[in-house]
Amino acid sequence: MTIQIQGPVRVRFAPSPTGFLHVGGARTAIYNDLLRQSVGGAFILRIEDTDKERSDEAMIRQIQSALAWIGVVWDEGPFLQSERLPRHHERAEELLAAGKAYRCFCTPEELDAQREEAQKKGLAFRYPRTCLKLTEEEIAERLAANRPFAVRFRMPDEHITFTDIVRGDMDFPPDALDDFILLRSDGNPTYHMSVVVDDIDMGITHVIRGEDHLSNTPKHVPLFRALGGTVPTFGHLPLILGPDKKRLSKRYGATSVEEFRTEGILPQALYNFMALLGWTPGNDQEILSRDEMIALFDVNRLNASAAVFDKEKLWWMNAQYLSRLDYEALRPHLEPFLAAAGLADADPARLAAAVNLHRSRARTLKELVELILPYFKDELTYDPEASAKFLKDQDLPGHLEILRERWAALPSFDKDALDAALRALAGERGLKPAVLIHPTRMALTAAAQGPPLFDLVEAMGRDASLRHLDHFLAFLRRGAEG
Ligand code: GLU
Repeated sequence: MTIQIQGPVRVRFAPSPTGFLHVGGARTAIYNDLLRQSVGGAFILRIEDTDKERSDEAMIRQIQSALAWIGVVWDEGPFLQSERLPRHHERAEELLAAGKAYRCFCTPEELDAQREEAQKKGLAFRYPRTCLKLTEEEIAERLAANRPFAVRFRMPDEHITFTDIVRGDMDFPPDALDDFILLRSDGNPTYHMSVVVDDIDMGITHVIRGEDHLSNTPKHVPLFRALGGTVPTFGHLPLILGPDKKRLSKRYGATSVEEFRTEGILPQALYNFMALLGWTPGNDQEILSRDEMIALFDVNRLNASAAVFDKEKLWWMNAQYLSRLDYEALRPHLEPFLAAAGLADADPARLAAAVNLHRSRARTLKELVELILPYFKDELTYDPEASAKFLKDQDLPGHLEILRERWAALPSFDKDALDAALRALAGERGLKPAVLIHPTRMALTAAAQGPPLFDLVEAMGRDASLRHLDHFLAFLRRGAEG
């Protein structure tokens, strides 16, 4: 079966602001974004903040900033579901008046006892419709006595079927469902009531959401109908699993968009990675821009099986983006990491040179800033163990001293001149150039590996390079004394 979605669609992303935007939520938002952008229409952002105790103002802002950061675009909203409670209430009253819902006066204690009873028998609890059987008089009596009541939806006694974009044909038999609550006894609408009323009022045509909502959909479908709405097309995305094949958890590190952001993942890479966590573009391409994904997006290639979150792959993908992005596009993302490292005022030209030289060796922005720190630091710390072989070489300080003088005297501090001066010195002293190249790299970066040395020295510039050489010489001499 091939599904053809014709635009314009109206999709929504409806997070509950009870925490940071989780990668699962981000992926749901991304597929809604891709669908909306590929066929046209509108993306609605609806904040489901009816659980006042667990919802948080700061999280509402945080979720929006995380969405904007990964590049998800919404056309309408954010709408706060809590502001629509009177409307949810009004529609529940309509159902009540039309006989499509009924008052339930059963007490929590009565229901708990029934639930326990069912459990003992190993049965799933279904509300036995006690209050559906009440007569008009019995209802009036209870109302007159001010007995609290909930409002339950009168489920139709039929199979609920729908075709899920991801999972295909779904069929829920009548005994799988019961008359669920629309309004609690405190008058508050339940999630089911609010979500369906909002989806109708907002003209939602496609509901793409997590698989954890699949069991809610057979409740929502008849509720849409009872409220006179058009049933949207549903698509339930499979879970995202950790490497242990269980639901992705903190145990394996970051799980929220914000955490990946602080680790130095680029939003483009995260979007790309998340989009491929359950969707295949139909070719072998793994690095795709949002525009390319929009052009290729097809709900028929959404996967029904759970996706495993492979952090290594995300790091790899981020490395790809780090080396490919234009410097101008990369720069703003580096900003917070530069600031944290005290490099907010670094000379722009030297910064660009350093970043461009090292970006293909970093997997995250954090790592990249680590790599360029030596360009801007007054003094580096050398690890005696990593420098053991240099410390043993008695002649090395003498060689490096001359190298330092020759480099200091160069009229132009460019890589060819630096290279020629080092090779000339090595030749004069009967040394392989490597004997000078390795310790010089260590002197300048406190690391044994990195980009080609003379590119590095040129990018680092005269002051920092000579200063580090001086400090390294002092370190070698101290080592020799000790
Ligand atoms: N607010 C729900 C959640 O965060 C989503 C509701 C829906 O997509 O229908 O899980």
